[in-house]
Amino acid sequence: MNPARRRAIFRRLQAANPSPTTELLHETPFELLVAVMLSAHTTDKSVNAASRKLFPVANTPAAIAKLGIEGVKPYLKTVGLYNTKAKNLIGLAQQIVEQHGGEVPDSREALEALPGVGRKTASIILNMVFGQTEVAVDTHIFRVANRTGLAPGKTPRAVEDELVATTPKEYMKDAHHWLLLHGRYVCVARVPACPKCIIADLCEYPNKTPPKALDKSDAPVVRKVGPRPPADAKAASGAKAAHDARRPTNRKRKRAGVGKLI
Ligand code: SF4
Repeated sequence: MNPARRRAIFRRLQAANPSPTTELLHETPFELLVAVMLSAHTTDKSVNAASRKLFPVANTPAAIAKLGIEGVKPYLKTVGLYNTKAKNLIGLAQQIVEQHGGEVPDSREALEALPGVGRKTASIILNMVFGQTEVAVDTHIFRVANRTGLAPGKTPRAVEDELVATTPKEYMKDAHHWLLLHGRYVCVARVPACPKCIIADLCEYPNKTPPKALDKSDAPVVRKVGPRPPADAKAASGAKAAHDARRPTNRKRKRAGVGKLI
């Protein structure tokens, strides 16, 4: 994709949503870290349900560490994999108390050393809390980057590197949220809402959804706010996901009311 087209895409996404943010409930950097860590492989809604119960009781590393694994579990029951996450959450809280004076660390190395925190979670914290120009690539961003041609790559890391290398500087801070929202609410996995997409004329995806197919689908349309820092992506499944993102299967096309791939 040429630089002018790339810039035009971000300009439009910015115009449609000048101040994108996360849907995860949080008021402090530590609450955000906890919410993002809990959001791996589960929905924002389930994390928010847990946060609403947990944070009024304990929202600092010391308070959460004091709850202990069994003490924190009842608050996390709406969250997928809550047994493992309870263990990670207590380990994370203890480590922040013991090694970082109770403050969320500001380096990737220290963040990724925390239990339950991977590259994507660290990128989100570095971006949202410390203002670093990081792009955390989740399944939505991976799909949008490949389909549009913004940053084609076979693995989330390859897409991340390409986005970091090519995204215009002025759009870097919010690129993560814009692409995530676009993937979650418009350029969805099953039937992308191409006829209603604000960047359709700039997108290089060769198999755009025709208007009639969209009418038959229940694909969501543009939504302005509310991304979710998502689950740490699995690089191992990247090659297949990249292929799927670029070319829909016959099954997907049948569901969309489009002809078979030949
Ligand atoms: S035109 Fe379609 S494939 Fe391209 S970004 Fe928009 S919704 Fe996605």
